[in-house]
Amino acid sequence: MALSFYNSLSRMEEEFVPLEKGKVRLYTCGPTVYNYPHIGNLRTFLFEDLLKRWLLYRGYQVTHVMNLTDVDDKTIRNSLSQNMSLTDYTALYKQAFFEDIRTLHILPADFYPEATAYIPQMITIIQDLLKNGYAYETEDGVYFKIASFPSYGKLAHLDTSSLKAAASGRLSADEYDKESVSDFALWKKWTPEDGNVKWPSPFGEGRPGWHIECSAMSLSLLGETIDIHCGGIDNLFPHHENEIAQSECYTGKPFVRYWLHAAHLIVDGEKMSKSKGNFYTLRDLLAKGLSPRAIRYALITTHYRKPLNFTFDLARQAEASLKRIDDFLFALRHVQQSGIPDPSLHTTFLEKKRAFEESMDHDLNIAEAMGHLFDIIRAFYEHQSRATLANAEEILSFFVSLENVLGFIEGSSSETLSPEEEALFQARIEAKKNKDYAKADSLREELLRRGIEVRDTPQGPIWRRL
Ligand code: AMP
Ligand code: ZN
Repeated sequence: MALSFYNSLSRMEEEFVPLEKGKVRLYTCGPTVYNYPHIGNLRTFLFEDLLKRWLLYRGYQVTHVMNLTDVDDKTIRNSLSQNMSLTDYTALYKQAFFEDIRTLHILPADFYPEATAYIPQMITIIQDLLKNGYAYETEDGVYFKIASFPSYGKLAHLDTSSLKAAASGRLSADEYDKESVSDFALWKKWTPEDGNVKWPSPFGEGRPGWHIECSAMSLSLLGETIDIHCGGIDNLFPHHENEIAQSECYTGKPFVRYWLHAAHLIVDGEKMSKSKGNFYTLRDLLAKGLSPRAIRYALITTHYRKPLNFTFDLARQAEASLKRIDDFLFALRHVQQSGIPDPSLHTTFLEKKRAFEESMDHDLNIAEAMGHLFDIIRAFYEHQSRATLANAEEILSFFVSLENVLGFIEGSSSETLSPEEEALFQARIEAKKNKDYAKADSLREELLRRGIEVRDTPQGPIWRRL
């Protein structure tokens, strides 16, 4: 079966065909940097990491943009309550976000645009929407007129009666639910509650609404129509619905071809909330003695469209599964028997490898795919006495290649570079020798995109997987 994803727009699983052959333009809604990411946010970021890694495994070249929302209702409210400037306040949480994604081995995006750096692009879009009758100005801001866009509601599948009722209302808040569907703010004129957060604009000093931020960054960095846009399910309405409306009225083109949304993380069967005491950041879990590798495993191995119920039992099961994988890789590395490979182990391996790939192609069905990996492990132990070096090598090379997909296969002790990565690493050494520093830098960046950090030491360059 071909690679396919469940598209929230059509509510169907569709074959994935990118606009440009072999290339994928991917936009993922990034963190609102007003606090430490919680493990729900990280679940969504890990699903997006798995998606990107699988696209890379399938040979696509991926350009990935993840924005940082560094101005919105929440960042302003919190920075003011802490008596800090918006810039200083959000800098703390930008750093926390980057630390967390490194800890969890999330591959870096190609671009991390900050909303505050794209205000001129947002103003250009708003001016155009005003000029063409898609927006109107009021005493407190500029609003998008949802009645001007007949396909408003196509992503959230809103019924037309709620849209008619909404046509007269408007809302300036960044976040609201489906019951409050209404015209939404593109620009919010300055009020004293905004402190000194404001930018000049043709519609008065103020700041952008949250939704226009992602439209401006996606259009600026990836173009008018992109292949995949992701986020958690709470982003679907109103955020993504509003992104579609603004962008499509501005460009006249489809904004996104495949919308993918991750279901929420819940804790012990309940919504995670500070008042219930079941609210966790990555730091909380590390402080409780869980390893980043086990946390990654626990957050990634449930299918992304199923709610993930996080429990400490689940984390302990993740640790046990990882130990099983580690022991298996150790056993594989110590197979010494030469001679003809055991045919039945060879056949089972090939079948299960194909099954793993098919499960992943089928809307990233990781839970099923992991089942096939454990079948390979079971088959190996069943045939261990007859397994030869040739059996071990083919299985080992598959598992090593899966490190690039799963990011939790290899423990720290037994890391190797794939032949392709080794070639890039050696090419960089060669470029430095020839004093071609631009080439050396671009090779270092290429390795970083694959999750390998290179550092120069007095003994020569070294590398590690992030
Ligand atoms: P935010 O920092 O609130 O803008 O959210 C960043 C990402 O995390 C978005 O894609 C949200 O949809 C997602 N998200 C928020 N809460 C949860 C949750 N409990 N489970 C999974 N994803 C979430
Ligand atoms: Zn967004």
